[in-house]
Amino acid sequence: MGLLARAGAEITHDASDADVIVVNTCSFIESAQQESVNTILEMARHKTEGRAQKLVVAGCLVERYRNEIQKDIPEVDAVVGTGELEAILSAAGLAPLAAPNGSPFVILQGQDKQGRAEGDARAAQGRFSRTEWDGAIADLPNYLYDETTPRLLTTPKHSAYIQIAEGCDHPCTFCIIPQLRGQFRSRRFESVVAEAEQLVVAGSRELTLIGQDTTCYGEDLGLKDGLALLLERLAQIEDVRWVRFLYAYPNKVTTRLLEAIASHEKICSYMDVPLQHAAPNVLKRMRRGAGTDIFLRSIEKMRRIVPDITLRTTFIVGFPGETEHDFEELCGFVREAEFDWLGAFGYSDQEGAKAHALDAKLPSREIEQRRKHLMQIQRQISKKKKRALVGKEFDLLLEGPSEETDLLWEGRTAMHAPEIDGTVFVNDAPDGIELRAGDFHRCRITKAHDYDLQASIL
Ligand code: SF4
Repeated sequence: MGLLARAGAEITHDASDADVIVVNTCSFIESAQQESVNTILEMARHKTEGRAQKLVVAGCLVERYRNEIQKDIPEVDAVVGTGELEAILSAAGLAPLAAPNGSPFVILQGQDKQGRAEGDARAAQGRFSRTEWDGAIADLPNYLYDETTPRLLTTPKHSAYIQIAEGCDHPCTFCIIPQLRGQFRSRRFESVVAEAEQLVVAGSRELTLIGQDTTCYGEDLGLKDGLALLLERLAQIEDVRWVRFLYAYPNKVTTRLLEAIASHEKICSYMDVPLQHAAPNVLKRMRRGAGTDIFLRSIEKMRRIVPDITLRTTFIVGFPGETEHDFEELCGFVREAEFDWLGAFGYSDQEGAKAHALDAKLPSREIEQRRKHLMQIQRQISKKKKRALVGKEFDLLLEGPSEETDLLWEGRTAMHAPEIDGTVFVNDAPDGIELRAGDFHRCRITKAHDYDLQASIL
């Protein structure tokens, strides 16, 4: 969107108003692919029946099915993979951009990369190969954006995501992200800091660092403790209030990282560490390793070093070969670990992923029953944890009037990552306080629901 806007396009969110429609797609699991295809077909109608002149498909579905999309959906005028961002301009009928120094704009190729032994070894084992994928091209994306890349925020300006790395080197058998996004590569440290400073000047107060695996940040640049160093550096930016990161890989959560979180007020005491399962038998088939005991010890360490830490995780239930005993082990682990936030997903059989060839697949009804059962356990844990917050005080970031009723405002504390965790509903504020989205206030929690909270501004 940043490139298009810089090249002179006017961005509209109303498809019926657009001359060019861009559908940005996901290809992570089958339901995401289906949703992407449905959206492309829906948008194609704006071309055949409405005013749109061009339909462009971008993103991961293009990495997976480049040729098929163009062959099977004739309304599509152009496709743009994740590694060819600048091609969006010609696809939309716009002229190429030139950077201020006259060189071609953007898109570094990870030129500071020193290589990451783990990634190179996985590449040699064929982890990133697409040769068996009909309709995909062999070339992997290898771009990185930097602080000069034009960018439009899709979030409210007070809260911005910063992607600090691209790609993933892990071997998880259920996942095709490495084949879609390429080998792990980090953005330059100074580039992330420069972008953060620009965002803060433009009004951002909360920065959320993302990447397929943020905890590997800097390893390919020869940096030790890269994420900890980056968080500490970003926390020095004067007008930043909260810095957080998402998607930690379990065995990459180091003492150094935890100490960085514990010792800086602006680094949120928040850890999102997707564990995917707890039974060693399943984790082994997932090629992730570890198990209940190791995870419990690691959680105990996180809570010891960062006593007020908020923990989020996700699990996949119904993975091929998951026995009732394995599932019970997962449930027992969830009861014991008592996460603050937890998401459970039913296993999705993804063509092209290693797990597709595994035996002992479970019926979808059984998978859904297990997923619901796990969420039921978490609901009780969440209820108990949220109740324990009543009467306590926190800093609150106001997000805006509630979508449910005009009488309430919505906000988040440092315990709530944007878009994913529960909501804090604000139903009381002192007379004379003007409520504005993006402002921080001190609040007291007055009521707890299963996942959401109610608060008064002090
Ligand atoms: S770490 Fe995450 S992105 Fe990487 S392969 Fe595993 S599930 Fe996929």
